Amino acid sequence: MDIEVLGSTNDQLSVIFRGAQPTFVNAIRRIIMAEIPIPAIEKVYVAENTSVLYDEILAHRLGMIPMRGGETLNPPDRCSCGGKGCSFCESVLTLEVEAKEDNEMVYSGRLKAEGSVFPAKNDIPIVKLNSGQKIALVAHARLGTGKEHAKWQPVSICVIKYEPVIFVQENCDLCGICVDRCPRKILEINENEKKLVVRSIWDCSLCKVCKEVCPKSAIKISYNDRTSRLTIETTGSKSNEELLVSAFDFLIKKCESLRNSIGGAVNG
Ligand SMILES: [Zn+2]
Repeated sequence: MDIEVLGSTNDQLSVIFRGAQPTFVNAIRRIIMAEIPIPAIEKVYVAENTSVLYDEILAHRLGMIPMRGGETLNPPDRCSCGGKGCSFCESVLTLEVEAKEDNEMVYSGRLKAEGSVFPAKNDIPIVKLNSGQKIALVAHARLGTGKEHAKWQPVSICVIKYEPVIFVQENCDLCGICVDRCPRKILEINENEKKLVVRSIWDCSLCKVCKEVCPKSAIKISYNDRTSRLTIETTGSKSNEELLVSAFDFLIKKCESLRNSIGGAVNG
């Protein structure tokens, strides 16, 4: 298997896996979405809330704010408190704000971290307050995974695309109709070599417009499922690179535990 990192753009990371089973790449994708622990706000104790939002909606919004840190926290199911919540598995944040004027937006940056967990971004809107409206609350963040709740999912995008394959047959007469009609503009005619070439194959959306408009039926479209591109976009809790490495570590640990249990069963 050969791996090529296409690099990061707009908070996205694309990696090409060549010669990999689609199931393997999909395992990595599903681990990133569902198995990597990140912190999120789980409990909110509201002391005062005179905003237009109910306490429950406010708590829900706080829960959905991506959080960073919490590396030293115990996973709640493996904490000595038995998952009830203590200083080893929870990190406290507070929010205390009173609007001085109308239409004052409260952003995630106003959450004050008392422990190791803090908002990944400071410009996420929580609630708009009018003059004199107040919010005072204490929030407890803990580690969790995407399979428990979407708020612990560390990515907003995590998709696989097979490599598109565009095959141009000999009977192509370079009429150029496909070049004009391709919505992604990835085809061009190479005048020197007198042939139709594909500029950037990964931009192909497999729409098959080129195949349909070709008067000679000279274009064939398919895909190669042994070469896939994984694209991930973090919500900010961890970097894309950290997520990818954590996914590989998780898969290795799962395989080791499977090997040990099979070994135990065979030996036992
Ligand atoms: Zn605990």
